[in-house]
Amino acid sequence: MGFQQRPAKPLLEVERLRKTFAHADSAAVERVSLALGEGELLALLGPSGCGKTTTLRMIGGFEVPDEGRVLFNGQDITHLTPEARGIGFVFQDYALFPHLSVLDNVKFGLRKLTRAAAKARAEEMLALVGLEELGKRRPHQLSGGQQQRVALARALAVSPQLILLDEPFSNLDAKMRVETRQEVRKLLKSTGSAGILVTHDQEEALALADRIAVMDKGRVVQFGTPDEIYSNPVSEFVANFIGRSNILRGTANGMSVRTAFGDLPMSRAANGAVDLAVRPEQIMLEPDPLGSATIIGREFRGHDQIYWVQEGDDCMIVISGPGAQYQIGTRVQLRICDCVVPLRAG
Ligand code: ATP
Repeated sequence: MGFQQRPAKPLLEVERLRKTFAHADSAAVERVSLALGEGELLALLGPSGCGKTTTLRMIGGFEVPDEGRVLFNGQDITHLTPEARGIGFVFQDYALFPHLSVLDNVKFGLRKLTRAAAKARAEEMLALVGLEELGKRRPHQLSGGQQQRVALARALAVSPQLILLDEPFSNLDAKMRVETRQEVRKLLKSTGSAGILVTHDQEEALALADRIAVMDKGRVVQFGTPDEIYSNPVSEFVANFIGRSNILRGTANGMSVRTAFGDLPMSRAANGAVDLAVRPEQIMLEPDPLGSATIIGREFRGHDQIYWVQEGDDCMIVISGPGAQYQIGTRVQLRICDCVVPLRAG
């Protein structure tokens, strides 16, 4: 189910981290375990308050866990200060120094180098993020996206093996977010730095990460590649947090399940009563005056359309291509044209 997967040579291992804040009813982070290989990009994904930032802060050394360990290159760093860990950070507000030029911001971590070498390295990093022309400016003279890239250049200048990114795109508009996240992925892949990204945006996690840890109420509920998590969510929570899903009831018998839509193949074996996740794009909608279902809502999205369809007691969401458009009230027949996913109870 993806929990046991470990990179061949872990760069970072997080073992059963736990953190309870004073006066809290429950733990903010509860037995979180993760492993990350060299150069790998991991997203911590989950709703607000699920413990993503607290997990990241324990990895970075800004928060001390009550229990558990953080191993970096095989060394126990659980109680080291952030500076002693050699891990880079990019925070939500970028934390650039307002009184320093862009170039001096990037040079900041390079004090061990000679002045000339530090300047050359900072210029190289600015060129890498496409801001070589803007080195003399102050942060307030840059757009949000440009400030974001300066923060990244500053963090990458010291060639960290690992960089932690806490909602780094939150100040950018929708178009800029999409562009910047691809740039960041390319940049990290080209420098070979591993990264951990905290986000509540499933699209961002799917687009950027090699693997995703989905968190809920302080726990990692699923850990796997974007494809595994999208195609094989383990629970209703994951199925609905990563995209949309219809949840159907069925009676499973090995790799097949009996449902109101007939006998369907399943993505993994199960037996007895099961809940099943069906993606809206896995359902075909055919107009049929004698059909058992009725369109009760629709949303035009340009490249496709969403329909809400009443079938008996169930309301199903169906996504279909831009071609045919159906009016509300149209009688249709629904057909499920792919494997369905049995979900874990609870
Ligand atoms: P968001 O997406 O909103 O940033 P998150 O998933 O990153 O949320 P955390 O910031 O890790 O969640 O918070 C987890 C829980 O711990 C929340 O209930 C939060 O209120 C609580 N918490 C976080 N920091 C502190 C603190 N310093 N003191 C007390 N409680 C805290």
